[in-house]
Amino acid sequence: MAKHTQLFIEGAMVTARGEHDLPVVDSFTEEIIGSYRTASALDVEAAVAAARRAFDGWAATPVAERVAAVRRVAARLRDQADALTTAISREVGMPRKLAARIQVGAPIAAWDMYADLAEQFEWESRVGHSLVQQVPTGVIACITPWNYPLHQITGKVAPALLAGCTVVLKPSELAPTCAFLLAEAVHQAGLPAGVFNLIHGYGPEVGEALVRHRDVDMVSFTGSTRAGRRIAAFAAGDIKRVALELGGKSAALVLPGADLTAAVKATLASCMLNSGQTCSAMTRLLLPRSMLEAAESIACDLLKGYRMGDPADATTRLGPLISKAQQLKVQGLIDDALEAGARRVGETATMPSHGFFVPSTVLTGVTSDMVVAQEEIFGPVLVLMGYDEVEDGIALANGTDYGLAGAVWGRAVPETLSVARRLRAGQVDINGAPFNPIAPFGGFKQSGIGRENGRFGIEEFLEPVSIQLPNAFPETTLA
Ligand code: NAD
Repeated sequence: MAKHTQLFIEGAMVTARGEHDLPVVDSFTEEIIGSYRTASALDVEAAVAAARRAFDGWAATPVAERVAAVRRVAARLRDQADALTTAISREVGMPRKLAARIQVGAPIAAWDMYADLAEQFEWESRVGHSLVQQVPTGVIACITPWNYPLHQITGKVAPALLAGCTVVLKPSELAPTCAFLLAEAVHQAGLPAGVFNLIHGYGPEVGEALVRHRDVDMVSFTGSTRAGRRIAAFAAGDIKRVALELGGKSAALVLPGADLTAAVKATLASCMLNSGQTCSAMTRLLLPRSMLEAAESIACDLLKGYRMGDPADATTRLGPLISKAQQLKVQGLIDDALEAGARRVGETATMPSHGFFVPSTVLTGVTSDMVVAQEEIFGPVLVLMGYDEVEDGIALANGTDYGLAGAVWGRAVPETLSVARRLRAGQVDINGAPFNPIAPFGGFKQSGIGRENGRFGIEEFLEPVSIQLPNAFPETTLA
């Protein structure tokens, strides 16, 4: 068992002074496979102070040098791809084959993608007689969840560094290993001391201490709506900037004339990916009532393909959930829905004898007043709901407290796009069009504030500053 006692502060691995050793659990074997020592209040202080000291120098570093540094981090991460895959697959439970591509390959590619975008970025522009500069926001507290741990860290740390900000990262206590490997990569890449700092700990303790620190200029948070609300309230005290990427209850809206088989297949795949632990998963399939029965039958057949098992086994499609607590919570929500009158489509699959599994579940007979229709479940649970008119379907799709993602399935006609335009969600796919890593990602309503990914992700960490130029003034460029 690997006992980690170190944090990464001011360019060096230092011994953590916190009181707890955070256990890291293999979600399939249920065994403790490692631990990370938490940061003390003094460690939080030291990490923020290091980031503050490094800020002026890093902000003044030419973009080309920041880009080169980020590319070196990407290269070092690539050397560690196998170790990253093993750690994430064991901690999170995603089948290894998928984890290698989605949890590791894609985020590493994103480090280089952000570097490319920073090279093309318009750091200065003219608005009338003003020179508008994009300047770094300052010291950023990055707080991240466990479900796609490297992806979420990347979506904050890479663009923040390229923007010229310095960072203190507090990753999820449930999946911290990729952050440790990132700190090693940063170290090897030779970034200036204090530009990137890593501390471990529980959210309410170490996370809150970081959020409340006066020298933190901005909090970039991804996680639950519950924690996001609390973080935004603390940030309001100091008028700190916040970016929040929170929960979702995304709907796939099937229109009359859509390819039903394709819609059910893709929606189920989106919902079951990472065992339902995906913030933007399509967890509601909304159909004209006349299509419900056929959709149930298609889903019933497809469910048989979601074989649960060891994430290391190449034939496994559904891994365990992250933790015992998550397993109990999701199972409880399924039981409550069945009690409230929902019906299960197909048989309950047999589960492996250990691991935090919940069987892939499709529920029908669900009404909008049920918890399962409104709340994020964060497990492999898809609900089917019927609607009468397209207007009712749109209202149903928009009828939750969330607005992270959505999908529309329909004929390739302008009306399908018109419906997509009416969904109040940050990203909407038509007929299964794939995820685009350079398109903005983020939510409406309680799904959050702000946008990540692509150039939008870099802009998140910049403040525009207008300098009014008098007539006949010599111009210089900063970038
Ligand atoms: P969580 O809110 O419990 O924890 C997320 C992070 O916040 C962890 O690092 C945790 O330690 C920290 N934290 C918790 N309470 C805190 C507090 N009071 N102050 C400061 N930090 C605190 O969420 P989770 O269970 O790790 O992740 C699952 C949630 O994340 C789901 O709701 C999911 O939808 C959401 N999520 C959203 C997106 C998105 O981009 N919108 C992406 C992934 C996950």
